[in-house]
Amino acid sequence: MTIDRKTGDPRFQKGDLELFNQAKSYSCEYMDKAYDRRVYPTDEAIAQLKIFEEPMPAGMGDDQEILQMLHKYGSPATVTQTGGRYYGFVNGSYYPAAMAAKWLADVWDQNPALFVISPIVSKLEEICEKWIVELLGLPDNTVVGLVGGTSTATLCGLAAGRLALFKRLNWDVNQKGLIGAPGIRIVAGQQAHATVFKALALLGFGKDNIELVTVDDQGRMDVSQLPDLDDNTLLILQAGNVNSGAFDPLQTICEKANKAGAWIHIDGAFGLWAAASAKYQYLTAGIEMADSWSVDGHKTLNTPYDCGVILCKHRDILVESMQAAGSYIQYGEQRDSMLYTPEMSRRSRAVELWATLKYLGKSGVENMVNGLCSNAQNLAARLKEAGFNILNDVVFNQILVSCDTPEMTEATLAYIQSSGDCWCGGSVWNDQPVIRISVCSWKTSQSDIERTVSCFVEAHNQAQTSISQSR
Ligand SMILES: *Cc1c(COP(=O)(O)O)cnc(C)c1O
Repeated sequence: MTIDRKTGDPRFQKGDLELFNQAKSYSCEYMDKAYDRRVYPTDEAIAQLKIFEEPMPAGMGDDQEILQMLHKYGSPATVTQTGGRYYGFVNGSYYPAAMAAKWLADVWDQNPALFVISPIVSKLEEICEKWIVELLGLPDNTVVGLVGGTSTATLCGLAAGRLALFKRLNWDVNQKGLIGAPGIRIVAGQQAHATVFKALALLGFGKDNIELVTVDDQGRMDVSQLPDLDDNTLLILQAGNVNSGAFDPLQTICEKANKAGAWIHIDGAFGLWAAASAKYQYLTAGIEMADSWSVDGHKTLNTPYDCGVILCKHRDILVESMQAAGSYIQYGEQRDSMLYTPEMSRRSRAVELWATLKYLGKSGVENMVNGLCSNAQNLAARLKEAGFNILNDVVFNQILVSCDTPEMTEATLAYIQSSGDCWCGGSVWNDQPVIRISVCSWKTSQSDIERTVSCFVEAHNQAQTSISQSR
């Protein structure tokens, strides 16, 4: 900002316009190259990051230089997950409509904690809540909180469940905490996501207290191994196994759990969006019977980072578990978003979420989900033809691949990761190393799939050569 010499007021002036235009032009250049640039940065680009290791500047800097440094050294050291050939973790891309909206919202710099702090963002959260609840087919009274990701969303859902279960035992956990509390039960699948165990630990439940349910060969809870449930149980189900993409038998288990009066939380970080597709909603049948759900915008829905969503059927319970009071925090008639989240101040995630949903509409979301899944099936079929083993039933967007020996799998993955052509992560499945593919970007095209298959074949050849040479 430039200071007005006469009044001393900061003003938006010509220098600022140049700065922001520069940021825009760097950004557009980056987006334009996203299709062609390396998926994983070169070692040189990463080594160059050393430039950022400097003592805290003694005095003020130059804004143009700061931006230039970021683009010159930062952009080349990014992972291009916004193109069509990034298959690591479960990372989506974004739509231009949402990124443009995010740019504007960044400039607004709103804090959606309370309606009085940001009427517009509160309104957009209210709209997102309605739309998502409808899209996923959840009960009308379901409320939404926007958080950083499913890790936090799950923490919220389990905190709500914890509060509700202790209430039934006449124990006010907000007031009394866990010391001396009566026991409640926690039941989860053996392959529940790492963040479920993290959330449970944060909530004061150690791993030793979790009743783990055996899973089948796809990582789904084995219903025959489900212990008897009661109204003292926090049950955590999974819509989308992070390796195989498999869904727990939700309908069957939710029916049992509902009868027993357990609190059901569903971790549906990427899989819950199956509910928005006529073709795939058989996977999420029964989810409406749960009490709380966690899902990400930044995975399957392809919103920009970060965007996690906690959904809870019991507004009062969620609000009570996220309680915050202070003389200066005055709740009003309109939506006060901090009621639904652990955070008070935070960024305006609703803007991009709303823009993505408004841009795609119901049919757009459905087509995108279907597209990710059909790309995954297609890619799996092509890799199989090329001689790779496909280890899971590709029911959604995840593929687990191996070569003929663990050594070959690891060496092939290493070549893939350094190729720059595409990027996949590694994992372990049935005690064996695997190449893990998550088709999660709407940008993945037919030609991206061709190029990915070629990359796998080439990596396999290179791995074979280097292994035979080392013998
Ligand atoms: C990604 C993922 C999480 C964690 O979500 P974040 O948004 O990274 O916090 C939890 N559960 C499952 C099944 C996931 O795929």
